[in-house]
Amino acid sequence: MHNYDYDLFVIGAGSGGVRAARMAAGFGARVAVAEDRYLGGTCVNVGCVPKKLYVYAAEFGKAFKDARNYGWRSEAPAFDWATLRDNKKSEIARLNAVYDSLLSGVQAEVFNGRGRIIDAHTVAVGERRYSADKILIATGGWPHIPAFPGSEHAISSNEVFDLETFPERLAIVGGGYIAVEFAGIFNGLGSRVTQLYRGPLFLRGFDADIRAHAAQEIAKTGVDLRFEVNVQSITPGAGGLKLCLSDDTAIEVDAVLYATGRKAKLEGLGLESVKVQLRDDGSIEVDDEYRTSEPSIFALGDVTGGIELTPVALAEGMSFARRQFAGLENTVDYDFIPTAVFCQPNIGSVGFTEEEARARFAHIRLFKSTFRPMKHTISGRDEKTFMKLIVDKASDRVVGVHMMGPDAGEIMQGIAIAMRAGATKAVFDSTIGIHPTAAEEFVTMREAWRED
Ligand code: FAD
Ligand code: NDP
Repeated sequence: MHNYDYDLFVIGAGSGGVRAARMAAGFGARVAVAEDRYLGGTCVNVGCVPKKLYVYAAEFGKAFKDARNYGWRSEAPAFDWATLRDNKKSEIARLNAVYDSLLSGVQAEVFNGRGRIIDAHTVAVGERRYSADKILIATGGWPHIPAFPGSEHAISSNEVFDLETFPERLAIVGGGYIAVEFAGIFNGLGSRVTQLYRGPLFLRGFDADIRAHAAQEIAKTGVDLRFEVNVQSITPGAGGLKLCLSDDTAIEVDAVLYATGRKAKLEGLGLESVKVQLRDDGSIEVDDEYRTSEPSIFALGDVTGGIELTPVALAEGMSFARRQFAGLENTVDYDFIPTAVFCQPNIGSVGFTEEEARARFAHIRLFKSTFRPMKHTISGRDEKTFMKLIVDKASDRVVGVHMMGPDAGEIMQGIAIAMRAGATKAVFDSTIGIHPTAAEEFVTMREAWRED
């Protein structure tokens, strides 16, 4: 019987690491956590939380305009970047303290420093070494910017929140969640935004109709959306940063945000001293217990290259702690994970895309609806909501729900519960709507738009 310093040593105090540490400690484990940047990890410091605060800030701009036709008169509002940025900083500092007290509240020991694995049961933080029965790697991901001439002038989502000066002209490269969300944020705050995506249509992985609708709606908000184009070089000059593009055009901007994906954060982690297997994309390979190929070392969250969402990292952290420290059989069910893109309006999605459903089910029925939200009948804003239901014809189960419209993220959470409970189209149809809402459209779509 070994006499380790801790039962569990967690490296990384982000969404997954903190949840695993707290739950393991709650089950009676002696837990230590090393964090080398910020308590709460990506989500709290440079991800979900500050992003959503900036989305709120951005959406005020249009709300002021919407209010005019409702009778409100006021002077043209002006936006002050420093106020938003600094209020965001205070809120994040408050959350860092909350995370600190959450960990100290369960008697987990927190080390401020980089955790470096020495061997299968030893972690070093600075000069000190600690032994542990189990080690959990929850070090998350890090933005990846491809190398090309002038790429050192590009910033990532890590820096964009705290820019010293507000970028009047911003180029955003990428067509995933971060690129689309930040295009909406800076466009809403008043920047002239150019979004550049290398493929024919952005938001790969989402339903094709949603992607097309999003391209149309986002372009209407004023984002200069350009597809099938990439950046070849960035050159600083007197007028700003000059971007030479693959279509032989050039643009000049004040800042360039690269949102071209994230890679597992393994730097300085000491993996060379253990047998932890990596996948081709550099993420850590684990089994369904989150065990790596080194039996005493586990990994979860973004560092394992799965679905990079905070609630997924939280679920994995809980599952890990329950199995390893409470002896409970517990696996995460990855089916029907809802997701939202916080652009204007929001995208909310759960279940299969039409393409995936066609590949999986013999026959499907599709229901679609496009309409102007009631609020904008008077505001005059040119914005359309889009909704789509995908039904497996054999079982009548609703297997995909997709929406772009106000509060789609909020609406989709409830839909996801119904889908996980196995709701059929008949159940949707027999549900009485809440009137007048946009969400009631999901229970009143009677005529199939297309049926196999
Ligand atoms: P992280 O939260 O990244 O935590 C890892 C921690 O480990 C970090 O604090 C890091 O400093 C620390 N660390 C790394 N190496 C070491 C080391 N050697 N020693 C000590 N500490 C170390 N998800 C959503 O669900 N909704 C959203 O709206 C959303 N918005 C996002 C917006 C942006 C801009 C970004 C970048 C991400 C967003 N995400 C969102 C994704 C979400 O933030 C991640 O999926 C989630 O944070 C992953 O949690 P994690 O525990 O795996 O890693
Ligand atoms: P994504 O993987 O979502 O998107 C990356 C984008 O960059 C894709 O459009 C990709 O194109 C493009 N790209 C990749 N490499 C290059 C290159 N060399 N040149 C040009 N374009 C390139 O990553 P993000 O960085 O947007 O976000 C990371 C993850 O964080 C997301 O996947 C998501 O899981 C999470 N997140 C979640 C949010 C939420 O829940 N609301 C918000 C923000 C982030 P292609 O499609 O052609 O491969």
